[in-house]
Amino acid sequence: MVFEKIFFYFFSGLGFFKNGWKGSHDFIPITFLYTTTMYDCMIKVAINGYGTIGKRVADAVAAQKDMKVVGVSKTRPNAEAFVAKQRGYPLYIADLSKKAAFEKAGLSVVGSVEDMCKAADVIVDATPSDVGATNKQLYERLGKKALWQGGEEHEIAGFSFNSSCNYKDAIGRQFVRVVSCNTTGLCRIINEIDKEYGVSHVHAIMIRRGSDPGEIKKGPIDAVVLDPVTVPSHHGPDVLTVLPHISITTMAMIVPTTMMHMHAIQITTKKTVSRDRVIDLIKNHPRLGLVKKTLGIKSTAELKEFAMDLGRQRSDLWENCIFEESIYANKNELCFFQAIHQEADVVVENIDAIRAMVGLEKDASRSIMTTNGALGLNLIQNNH
Ligand code: NAD
Repeated sequence: MVFEKIFFYFFSGLGFFKNGWKGSHDFIPITFLYTTTMYDCMIKVAINGYGTIGKRVADAVAAQKDMKVVGVSKTRPNAEAFVAKQRGYPLYIADLSKKAAFEKAGLSVVGSVEDMCKAADVIVDATPSDVGATNKQLYERLGKKALWQGGEEHEIAGFSFNSSCNYKDAIGRQFVRVVSCNTTGLCRIINEIDKEYGVSHVHAIMIRRGSDPGEIKKGPIDAVVLDPVTVPSHHGPDVLTVLPHISITTMAMIVPTTMMHMHAIQITTKKTVSRDRVIDLIKNHPRLGLVKKTLGIKSTAELKEFAMDLGRQRSDLWENCIFEESIYANKNELCFFQAIHQEADVVVENIDAIRAMVGLEKDASRSIMTTNGALGLNLIQNNH
């Protein structure tokens, strides 16, 4: 990679000094070397597990100028496999004995998951919870960088990631875990409030979606389920894997909806908190969205409809959606509601994690801006 970079800059410079801006007879070969080398400089990313998260990460990788998708993996020839084909992603499969079934369905298979991993600089493991852990041996044996999702335990990578909180600590790492959707949403806002006021304690209640829209076999259909019935839920301890100094208690339940999670958050701050300043902090953060009163939205369903109408890909909301009217500040107490799109907020974090692990971008803000820019993320508050 370093050699390729030197090569890239050498030929860029040579092209300029030899030809100036206008070019000359050898402009084409130099441009060719420039472009092919630039292509080689791109981070090669494989997505192991092309499902809800994997397919979004693949599209987000493909949108970046410094990354490319070298393959995605499937276990069976379902609708998502056809989407991968339509997107032009090389398709690999977990079990080669199923190759004939894929090919019979009209899906060409390039090779096995191991073949795919060999072709990659970084593997994004987006297989279902607990399956990811079984892949670690493979990544270790191949000496590859890999990142897992929040369904795996912190110990799998020994490092849990959030772009806004600990990007620098991920630089050069072989293994990283991107925390779950709820933890990502919590970390972003808690860290911001902590930097400004200091956080004494956080109390957060998560009203979670029962299943993702495509999951037809999950519920509940007609119940509010305490999940878990015990306190704290796993979300609080999970926040500590990123922000170990924060005192936090979380409670969680699941409800019959597929759209988004809703968080009711109460933060006790060390210094007196100002509502106006909190709104400014939210407006100035690249991954915090503000649902202003003018929008007239007070539900997850309306938020998703708005994202769809805005033309967001898959109606994804990559940012936290904090309801401006719910923001209540009194002395050392801050309360608000925020909606979190479970399928989307971790996707942008995966992209920054890749960049940090490879070490090509040392600055968190620059990576976040690059990721957001490539996806055309225009924060929700800028649309009303
Ligand atoms: P999913 O079931 O939608 O997708 C997983 C994909 O992996 C499927 O396409 C499946 O066919 C494939 N797969 C299964 N076993 C495989 C194997 N051995 N090798 C290769 N591919 C295999 O799951 P998901 O919802 O995308 O979740 C993936 C991870 O992301 C989990 O750790 C989950 O906890 C985490 N996560 C999920 C959400 C969410 O809301 N869905 C949000 C944040 C984090």
